[in-house]
Amino acid sequence: MNILITGGAGFIGSHILQRFSKEDCQITVLDNLHSGNKANIPEGVNFIEMDICDERIIDVFEKNKFEAVVHLAAQTMVNASIDDPIYDSDNNIRGTINILEACSKTGVRRIVFSSTAAVYGDVSAVPVLEDFTTDPLSFYGLSKLTVEKYLKLYQKLYGLEYVILRYANVYGERQGDGGEGGVISIFMKLLAQNKALTIHGDGKQSRDFVYAGEIANANWLALNTENINEIYNISTQTETSINELVETLETIAGKKFAITYGAPRQGDILRSVLSNDKAREKIGYKVETSLAEGLRRTYQYFVK
Ligand code: NAD
Repeated sequence: MNILITGGAGFIGSHILQRFSKEDCQITVLDNLHSGNKANIPEGVNFIEMDICDERIIDVFEKNKFEAVVHLAAQTMVNASIDDPIYDSDNNIRGTINILEACSKTGVRRIVFSSTAAVYGDVSAVPVLEDFTTDPLSFYGLSKLTVEKYLKLYQKLYGLEYVILRYANVYGERQGDGGEGGVISIFMKLLAQNKALTIHGDGKQSRDFVYAGEIANANWLALNTENINEIYNISTQTETSINELVETLETIAGKKFAITYGAPRQGDILRSVLSNDKAREKIGYKVETSLAEGLRRTYQYFVK
């Protein structure tokens, strides 16, 4: 398969490149290196430094005749989207439409889109199912939800197949601390540098932390599934409180954090767990890496 990975130089992209290297496929990465790193792209992978909003994208598609696109490139920061919704929508909506236009004009068969739990907003029931109401609390969540709707319409109008993957909080090696799931990489850095940690609220708020290797695997499954034009949550379906996360980290590192508890952060969701039943049933997704194992690998990376 001839695949374009947009945003492939980033954190999740680096795990996807590792995973796809085991498969028989030809890969091109297109990335503007805004938050990505060229060192994440192995030798032999075709790299194009370009913004997804660039009007020359169509030339890239015409020349390379991609069969499938894994679309990761995005403005990924919730706070940045609130500070600058125009920048967020330029990257996440306009940039994606540019990609979708190129897909439909050059006969790309399928696009796999990286969406997010942020599309749901603050839902009180857990675990969250794909057909729950979507009511994003940030422009980032809104721009991702808007793209999901564009995908549905491109499918209807032009037959472009799509698979939408809504990720829970992703963590792993090579993660920056600015993006969505940054809490683990922030904690890792503090722990590795023996610095104090402030927990907002009582630490009982929970998240669904999923290792980036699972995300990479889910993207491969999404490229190959027959159950297309669907939305799938990609998660562990396991609730971990911030206090439990800290305890596991301390066990792995063999040392204690100096912890202070601060005021809860405004708008912080109390519980967040995504059901992955549908992904397990329809695309063969399964969780292979335990939180302790994923954290151990991530900690080793940050210590280095
Ligand atoms: P990342 O910032 O590490 O990767 C994003 C990549 O896209 C970077 O390499 C960046 O340089 C590139 N990029 C950004 N804007 C671009 C543009 N306009 N043109 C070309 N390239 C551009 O972030 P990540 O965590 O690897 O996220 C990958 C995708 O997964 C994003 O779409 C993000 O919204 C989504 N996602 C991430 C998480 C998470 O917890 N990390 C959760 C849900 C969804």
